[in-house]
Amino acid sequence: MTTIDTLLEAARRHCAEDILPNVTAWNEAGTWPRAVSDKAGDLGLTGIYAPQEFGGQGMSLGDGIRVYEELGRGDGAYAFALSMHNICTFAGCGYGTDAFKAAWAHDLTSGRKLANFALTEPQSGSDPMTMYSRATVNGDGTWTISGSKAWVSLAGEADIYFTVVKTSDEPGHKDMAMIAIPADAEGLSFGPRYDTPSYNFLPFSEMYMNNVTVSEDNIILPPGQGLQGSLMAIDIARVSIASGCCGLMQAALDIALAYTGNRKMFGGTALDQDGMQWMLGEVATELEASRLLYRAAANALGTDQGPVMAAHAKRFVPDAALKAANTCTQALGGMGLLRSYDLDRLSRLAQMLRIVDGTTEISRVVIGRSLKKRAKGLEPLPIPKGFGEAG
Ligand SMILES: Cc1cc2nc3c(=O)[nH]c(=O)nc-3n(C[C@H](O)[C@H](O)[C@H](O)COP(=O)(O)OP(=O)(O)OC[C@H]3O[C@@H](n4cnc5c(N)ncnc54)[C@H](O)[C@@H]3O)c2cc1C
Repeated sequence: MTTIDTLLEAARRHCAEDILPNVTAWNEAGTWPRAVSDKAGDLGLTGIYAPQEFGGQGMSLGDGIRVYEELGRGDGAYAFALSMHNICTFAGCGYGTDAFKAAWAHDLTSGRKLANFALTEPQSGSDPMTMYSRATVNGDGTWTISGSKAWVSLAGEADIYFTVVKTSDEPGHKDMAMIAIPADAEGLSFGPRYDTPSYNFLPFSEMYMNNVTVSEDNIILPPGQGLQGSLMAIDIARVSIASGCCGLMQAALDIALAYTGNRKMFGGTALDQDGMQWMLGEVATELEASRLLYRAAANALGTDQGPVMAAHAKRFVPDAALKAANTCTQALGGMGLLRSYDLDRLSRLAQMLRIVDGTTEISRVVIGRSLKKRAKGLEPLPIPKGFGEAG
């Protein structure tokens, strides 16, 4: 039986042997490294939370999410793509129909087939309620789907897309559902690839559904559960991103330490200067705080506190990662700007991770709502004597 320690060790090795030595070449080639994600499957990194009966590792979210910290030391976009695959696999093995599980579960947990999530549309990112993709439920048990999705990761590379759709013209989310659309479904196509220079190996594009007909076997969340289920998936994604960001911070800090510990200046090294120690010390403190926060948030998933804890982690950690990557660039002086030191790539990845799966601002909205709820339960404070008496 795989333990979390063996899985973390496998992720560490995958990062050192497969990601770090090759990520520059992946970006230059602009293609998803399928042989490497196949290897991630062999290492147990593509079925992290899925039950063992389907070939998964059966990890809890609290433990399994730590894998992305290891992968994020190598590349945040690769860690992100595997996290979305794992979330879809978890959903498919947990909520899918028996027919879906029989057809897909083992292929997904083994990484032979890759999955991704399609919620965002060209006109709606932060506010998914304004969704236009529609499924018509046919009398013969099939669904016919039309519409467009945007920012689909692993576009054209994944084998199946867990797609959120409306099933009526009623406004609101009560008719929303999630259905898994196989990549070879007739009528499914992809737009031109978005040009994202810093994580060019991960394909993104729009996804077009033109009267795509899918069997009801592929319903993951029936009408009425689509939005709520998607929000649960997004909470897991937010904490996974925070975990990946901790790996990114550790990578940036190690580059800065390795450089400043050897760069001679003022009769010592750059790292001998108090100001440099303070600068990098702040990165180290924020890294420790970020680790504690994302691990607490991972343990809260599935409880009432899950959404707000995920929002705290997504609000705080990617911001801290961007600041860390920029501070570490500064610590190298001009050398920090060179491609070979990799800090520019880490800064661009941190900025990307502030946006995907709910922006920093949307996390603030979730936190704000929870503060308002708490305020409602508090006794109003008495106004001190002498205030407002004239009126
Ligand atoms: C690299 C990458 C990969 C992605 N992969 C996927 C994927 O695989 N599947 C998928 O479905 N989606 C994916 N997305 C979409 C992603 O989740 C959205 O980009 C994100 O939710 C933000 O939506 P938007 O880009 O439309 O920004 P908008 O919603 O247009 O927001 C624009 C700005 O307005 C701000 N804003 C919005 N509402 C408020 C508010 N109430 N108060 C203050 N400010 C506000 C936002 O924070 C942002 O700064 C991906 C995005 C990126 C960048």
